[in-house]
Formats: sequence, C-alpha cells, structure tokens
Amino acid sequence: MTLPKLSSNSNIIKFLGLKKFFRSHETGVSRERIEDFKKFNKLINYGGDEVAFDILGSLNFGQATTDSDTDIVMYTRCEEGRMGECGLENCYKIALFKHMFLNLVTFEHNSQAYKLEIVDCINLNQLEKDIKDKNADSALLIRFCFYRSICRGVNRRLLHKYENMISENLPLWEKISESLEECFEGIIKSSQHTYSFHKYAGRLADKGIKLPGSMAEKIKDYLKQ
Ligand SMILES: [Zn+2]
Repeated sequence: MTLPKLSSNSNIIKFLGLKKFFRSHETGVSRERIEDFKKFNKLINYGGDEVAFDILGSLNFGQATTDSDTDIVMYTRCEEGRMGECGLENCYKIALFKHMFLNLVTFEHNSQAYKLEIVDCINLNQLEKDIKDKNADSALLIRFCFYRSICRGVNRRLLHKYENMISENLPLWEKISESLEECFEGIIKSSQHTYSFHKYAGRLADKGIKLPGSMAEKIKDYLKQ
C-alpha cells in the first residue's frame, strides 16, 4: 500500500499526469539506469543489508540521456540503530553505498559511466520514530512523503512499511499533505523546474514526438504561464 491519495485539485496530481506522459516515451538510457539500481539493490540484499531509492530529475521522467547525471534520494537504516540525519559527510554507510554503486556503474557501462548525485538521505530509524511520535513537523517525515509522492522508487517494498504506518494515521497525513503542497508550490515557482519541462518536451520533439495539444495545455496550466 502507498500513501493515501492527495486531493484531486492538487498540483502534485497534475504533475503526476505529466510525468506519466513523459514516461510513456521512456529512453533506452533510462531503462538501463533503472536496471543498474535494481542490480545494486540485489547486491546489497545479498550482503544482508537493505537500501531503497527514489529517483528525481530526468530519470524520474524517463528522459535520461547518456550525458545526464542521475539524482537520487537514498533510504537505509543507519548502523546500530543510530538516529538522526545521515549524509555523505557523517555516515559511513552512505559513503560506502555510493562508492559501491559507482563501481557497479563503471563495471556495467565502462566509458559510458555516469555521475550519481545523492540529493538527500533518509535514515529509516529516525523516520520510524517520527511516525510513531506523530511528529507532523518533522522535516525528515515531510521529505519522505514528498519524495514518495513525486519520485520513481526502486525497492519500494522496503518503503511500504512506513507508508502503511502513515496511512493508518489520517490526522497525521492531513497535516503532512498540507506541507507537501506548500513544498511543491515553491518548486513550481522556481525557474529550474520550468526549464526542465521545456527540456524534456524538446527531447521528445527531437525524436519526432510532438506533445499532444492537450498535454501542452496541461504543461502551461501547470506552470501557470
Ligand atoms: Zn547513517
């Protein structure tokens, strides 16, 4: 089970409609990269550990090309039940996983290797605590729900446990979903986001795929132009 549905007039819902359209024209490079994440996940599982990802940027839209970087959010439980935030600078596990992933990419793709950008990390120990504490103001919890609402997950099974816990507490979810819309409103207004949509539409046009009129309207409406 995933997070509860957002209200139908939500900007996030419109965004997901657009994403679905772009994903229906997924590039071969996008498919290859998703396979890399699945292989990495298996590798980590063999080692008895667990990891999951949410994918952002062009790969989230299925529009990655050979020179695209890959932007991800990494989910894992920190060592020995450690709480708090995990990041490349302060968490051995995140640094190790990044190193291992880049080795896998070099092994699989050789000269076509690509850059991995870890945009955020979520320590599942802390997430579990914040959900149990019903802490609707937890930035970590809001970030988790935000990524789960708009990104493309790999090894979602690991994340479902937490999504279920949130779904079982509707008052908590209502507060969080308000925060999500606020985050999203901020992103829509940022110029980088607008640029991305034009870029993806341009890539489809290069391949002779024209955006249907209705889709162009949706993008305009979405970007409030
Ligand atoms: Zn850690």
